[in-house]
Amino acid sequence: MLRRTLRTFAALLSPVLLNAQAQNPDWHKAFPAFRIAGNLYYVGTADLAIFVIHTLQGDILINTNSPEDAPALKKSMQQVGLKYSDITYLLTSHAHSEHDSALREIKKETGATVMVMQDDASDVESIAPGRPGIHVDRVLRDGYTVELAGVKLIAHHTPGHTKGCTTWTLRVLENNTVMNVVIVGGATVEAGTLLVNNKRYPTIAPDYLKTFSILKTLPCDIFLGAHGEYFGLKDKYARLKAGNANAFVDPNGFKTWVATKEQEFLTEWDRQKKSPGSPKK
Ligand SMILES: [Zn+2]
Repeated sequence: MLRRTLRTFAALLSPVLLNAQAQNPDWHKAFPAFRIAGNLYYVGTADLAIFVIHTLQGDILINTNSPEDAPALKKSMQQVGLKYSDITYLLTSHAHSEHDSALREIKKETGATVMVMQDDASDVESIAPGRPGIHVDRVLRDGYTVELAGVKLIAHHTPGHTKGCTTWTLRVLENNTVMNVVIVGGATVEAGTLLVNNKRYPTIAPDYLKTFSILKTLPCDIFLGAHGEYFGLKDKYARLKAGNANAFVDPNGFKTWVATKEQEFLTEWDRQKKSPGSPKK
């Protein structure tokens, strides 16, 4: 009994849960849905991004957010003329419950196929506080493609933020111009993270390095990511509404963001090397 209590206590202190508790007020705040470019739509909240890639044979969803956001997702899809029941594939950016815990409910309601990067699959399937657990229908690996009605997405394994963190790339056609889209899975080091002597994730630091080197190679016109704050959602949406059709075209913003996150990571890794065992504040 005591052992179980201690385990429960330890679980309460786990970084994932600490993160879930330190919620950003924008996480569950409604945000207008809109078309970003071509067949790509934003249907997430004011910070937790959900993207739809619309095809003639069904819709591909990247991220689901949590069950409490499900009514907002349905409303958002309606706002942009998409049908919730058309969701055919369910993809994820990384296995943190704020991004993926509605997978179970959406799969149940739409019959969509769930596809997750190998190293996140066990977390997605496991039942834990805030995680209902859902069977992964197709396990992905780095470079795998997801195709529907001629639309192709590439899954890039960009680990560190989670073991199976996934950056998605695709091309969209807008005004007869083909544009490269990058949807970053995550590259920030969250509070509570150990980069040195992390027993649950021993390769975390080299994994972050690998991720930064991959992100630097991706051609990018339209920069997006799992959180609105990564790519300046609110600001770019305001410019879009003000008439700037290219508000989300931001290749330099992508480069700057990757460089900034890499520097933040290196600084924190350096600090932890000097004081091992002290997690990110
Ligand atoms: Zn996360």
